[in-house]
Amino acid sequence: MTATTRLLTRPASRTIAKPWRASAACQSLDLDTVFSDTVADQRKVQTACQTCPVRARCLSDITAFEKPLHRVWGVVGGLLPQQRRALRTHAVLGEYPDLRQATVLTRRYGALLKQWKKSTPATVAEQLRKHGVIASPVTVRVAMWWTGSKANLIAPTAGDDTRLTWERIRDEHRQVVEELTGLGVSRQNIAQFLGVWDGQVKSAMAAWRRQDRKTAVKAGEVRAA
Ligand code: SF4
Repeated sequence: MTATTRLLTRPASRTIAKPWRASAACQSLDLDTVFSDTVADQRKVQTACQTCPVRARCLSDITAFEKPLHRVWGVVGGLLPQQRRALRTHAVLGEYPDLRQATVLTRRYGALLKQWKKSTPATVAEQLRKHGVIASPVTVRVAMWWTGSKANLIAPTAGDDTRLTWERIRDEHRQVVEELTGLGVSRQNIAQFLGVWDGQVKSAMAAWRRQDRKTAVKAGEVRAA
C-alpha cells in the first residue's frame, strides 16, 4: 500500500489544517516516510517528534481520529501505531493520559525515566511519588514512550522470577485480559496493551481454559474427555 493510498483511506490529522501544524517538526518529511511501516523511517519521524513543540497536541488530535474502524499507520505524536493502539485500550478501561503532565515529566525527569526504562509504568509512577510527583501510570507510560522506553505493563525481567512471560500473564493478568475481552478488545490489541506478543496472551488463555475444564470436571459439572 502506498503512502497516498494510506492518506486517502485515513481521515486523520496531517491532511487537516490546524494552526499548531505550522510548528510541527515533521513538516520537511515526505508522506512516504511519515506513513512508512519500516523501522528506519519510523525512527526518522520519532527523532523529529522528540524535539517537536506540538507533540501533545498532535497526539491528542490523532487519538480523537483513530477510531477502531480506521487503520493505524505511521508515527504520530511521537508514538508508534502499536503504542497508540495500547493507548486506545487504556481508554476502553477509562484510563486517559494527561498529555500536558507527560510533556512536563519528559522535560524534567527525562534522565530518570531513561534510567528506569526497564520498569513498568506503575513502578515508575511509584518512584516518581518519592520525588513529590503524583502521576497516573498511563500518563507515566506516555512520558516513558516519549523518552524511548518500551514501557510494557509486564516488565521483561522480574527479579529472580523464573516464570516465562506467558506464565506471568496466566498467573497475574487474567482479570484484565478477561475484562478487555468482554469489552470487545481483540487479543492482538490486548497483547499490545500489555506489551507482549500475541502468542503469549494466547498461551495464557489456553491455560485458563484447561484449568477451568479441570475444575469443572472435578466439580462434576462436565465429564472428563
Ligand atoms: S509530534 Fe511528530 S508527528 Fe506530530 S507534528 Fe510533531 S513531529 Fe509531526
